[in-house]
Amino acid sequence: MATMTLGEFDLIARYFTRTPRRAALGVGDDCALIGPLPAGQQLAVSSDMLVEGRHFLSTVAPDRLGHKALAVNLSDLAACGAEPIAFTLALAMPRVEEAFLDGFARGLFALADEHGIDLVGGDTTAGPLNICITVFGAVPGGQALLRSGARAGDALWVSGALGDARLALEVFRGTVALAGGAFDSVRRRMECPTPRVALGQALRGLATSAIDLSDGLVGDLGHVLARSGVGATVNADALPMSAALASMPRALQYECMLAGGDDYELLFSAPPTAAREVMAAAEKCGVAVARIGRVEATPGLRIVDDAGALLAQRFTAFDHFRAAP
Ligand code: ADP
Ligand code: MG
Repeated sequence: MATMTLGEFDLIARYFTRTPRRAALGVGDDCALIGPLPAGQQLAVSSDMLVEGRHFLSTVAPDRLGHKALAVNLSDLAACGAEPIAFTLALAMPRVEEAFLDGFARGLFALADEHGIDLVGGDTTAGPLNICITVFGAVPGGQALLRSGARAGDALWVSGALGDARLALEVFRGTVALAGGAFDSVRRRMECPTPRVALGQALRGLATSAIDLSDGLVGDLGHVLARSGVGATVNADALPMSAALASMPRALQYECMLAGGDDYELLFSAPPTAAREVMAAAEKCGVAVARIGRVEATPGLRIVDDAGALLAQRFTAFDHFRAAP
């Protein structure tokens, strides 16, 4: 007996419709309804699109893709210090493949459940594989962390470890060899990033600025510096890295940590006097943080080593409309 391809609405019903826990109205009507928000809270909104061959390799397991599509969006809410509430999913795919949908939905909802958030709507169409999620979060009015708040004298911090996703990409490209458990761990960091949602919220009132690292430290820090009208010095030898990256040559470590994208760690500034509070907040969230440099009045970004010598190497951020690194 030939199996019938699942239609658009059956597909939505089977894979993407669940009773919302927090939203007032979920999938199935012309709009979803979120709220009312608690008095004084602002709605934080962010969208991120994932395109096959550009943001992910066709070899990625569907559940990891579902996870990552939501994770990169939650990372944006984290960078603003917002609490996630709900999200929408716009999905284009060439054909209905139930094994793909099954895995994708499993990874997506596992992360959604971890954060207690609802998929409240979206759009589904045939086309080249393309995933666009929009997340909605809440943040107390005026307290969102912004890129524009860094001040000269602030310390610069990053969460977690940098460069693993780029290292994994280099292994896939065949430029670096990495075996066994070390490869699995960096591959997991690339395919299954952890959005620092709790840390972002814990940094409200402590951090003066924040951004999540999606395009590489140099480029993303550049956005903060430009928005804040300041400069910075970063000590490349203070950047936190995994054991896998630590086993690589120094030049590759620098390249991965400074210019590698897809880390989804938080980069933030805070007055030096807040250092203890920053460390306490991070510990409470179970996330490591490292102090990597300082904000200065002199414009521009200076990258130095432990000895204070300027690194000559040029590190460039990822830009979709320029040559890929
Ligand atoms: P409309 O034509 O009114 O835009 P659709 O027919 O596209 O609505 O979708 C029907 C319902 O299913 C809507 O509530 C929409 O939000 C939801 N929906 C469509 N695609 C998805 C998806 N991929 N994930 C979750 N909800 C979806
Ligand atoms: Mg409609």
